Amino acid sequence: RTAIVWFRRDLRLADNPALAAACATHDRILALYIHAPHEEGGWAPGAASRWWLHHSLASLQAELQRMGVALHLRLGDSLAVLQELIRECGATSAYWNRLYEPAAIARDAGVKSALRNEGVEVHSFNAALWREPWQIETRECGPYRVFTPYWRALREQLGKPKFLPAPTVMRGVPVAGGLPLEALGLLPDLRWDAGLASSWKPGEQGAGEWLDIFADDAVGDYANARDLPARHGTSRLSPHLHFGEISPRQIHRRLADRAAATDARRRPDLEPFLRELGWREFAHHLLYHFPQTPTVNYNSRFDGFAWSADSEALQERWQRGRTGVPLVDAGMRELWHTGWMHNRVRMIVASFLCKNLRQHWLHGARWFWDTLVDADLANNSLGWQWVAGCGADAAPYFRVFNPVTQARKFDPEGHYLRRWLPELAQAPLPLLHEPWNDPALLRSSGYPAPMVDLAGSRDAALVAFREMRRDE
Ligand code: FAD
Repeated sequence: RTAIVWFRRDLRLADNPALAAACATHDRILALYIHAPHEEGGWAPGAASRWWLHHSLASLQAELQRMGVALHLRLGDSLAVLQELIRECGATSAYWNRLYEPAAIARDAGVKSALRNEGVEVHSFNAALWREPWQIETRECGPYRVFTPYWRALREQLGKPKFLPAPTVMRGVPVAGGLPLEALGLLPDLRWDAGLASSWKPGEQGAGEWLDIFADDAVGDYANARDLPARHGTSRLSPHLHFGEISPRQIHRRLADRAAATDARRRPDLEPFLRELGWREFAHHLLYHFPQTPTVNYNSRFDGFAWSADSEALQERWQRGRTGVPLVDAGMRELWHTGWMHNRVRMIVASFLCKNLRQHWLHGARWFWDTLVDADLANNSLGWQWVAGCGADAAPYFRVFNPVTQARKFDPEGHYLRRWLPELAQAPLPLLHEPWNDPALLRSSGYPAPMVDLAGSRDAALVAFREMRRDE
């Protein structure tokens, strides 16, 4: 018997329930990846994600090859490709792991019912989350809208973490018509990706190596260091998680095992880190129950908010890290160079765009979508709506981050600012935080004057917010 294993964002061999189940019950498998950006409901992977995907597929291809199985790559409509391959290799079943974006849910439901009508067995699994978004319910059997009670309910259900090992034996099935990886066209024509290549190692092996580094060095100090952008105080597992190169179960298990093997007096407290993985689950819970939130305010009161007119010029200065506000520019340049930005800095650049520049949060969400290697519809939508104040369990709108105070607090020695703003690297600390206080420094360094007055633009945003509430 032959089964098709349709890989999507579960690009790993270990803890892959679809692959494990197919290998356990079938003599031969066809490992398949279909690139179908037109099926992503307007959220086709951006440029940085495509770069990651290319290298992650190359890594999966190599891992499968070591087991003697080829990864069959195709472009086109998923259902048509599956039907064609089922005919060609005589497969009786199809296996995949679930996705939670609204377009993927609709597509998969259609594929499932079409294949079942043709007599093909279809099996789908949860590979990405601790719990399915519909498994955590309030007492009234509805979705949670606030994180803390959601996390309490989820945390209670997390027992000793278990995960599936990678299959030890696999037999592939030869099928013609597969494409070479380059034919998927994922890499940029103009090679801007050197910064990404020097920052990351996409693939299951790279994910495991990052996790080991984090488990050995950083997890114990996570609660203190996670807010300091100059430090490698967080796991940087977000792109690996997004592409399913590692699962939350594997992370949890590895950290729990390491903690158990550590002397009780030095045993790290895993809770602050597990709670962040809890935010990821909460984001998927919200996206599943409120599928409009990638583009529509969760809190409809914000539909009447007086955003400033869309300004490409303003947005471009923000995108390029030329706002004249050091922490905002450092973050945007880190993003452009590495495809990633520290969480605290994400909050600050987002607040600056939505509040000081009063540009609609969706402009920021779209830019992040194109430039982040971890761009993820659930997490990105939650992050932007949280900062803009219109999301579920969001920061109150009147909380406007002050980038100068934040820099003094979280980058007190200026290491992060100096790394990403080389033109200010020699400036003394007070001027690094507020370079506009020395016009000669601006002239000699070429660093721009601030594009808005921070205090004035904050006050204007708060006035707009009060007006919105008055109009309700
Ligand atoms: P760690 O601190 O090591 O956390 C471990 C994991 O928990 C992360 O890898 C991530 O999967 C999850 N996580 C941590 N914080 C959050 C959070 N606030 N919300 C949801 N999940 C979280 N994260 C993305 O993965 N993709 C996005 O597109 C994305 N867009 C964001 C946009 C904005 C405006 C903001 C404020 C946050 C966004 N985040 C996004 C959340 C967060 O910034 C990143 O997950 C985190 O910085 C990734 O770094 P890390 O892996 O070192 O995190």
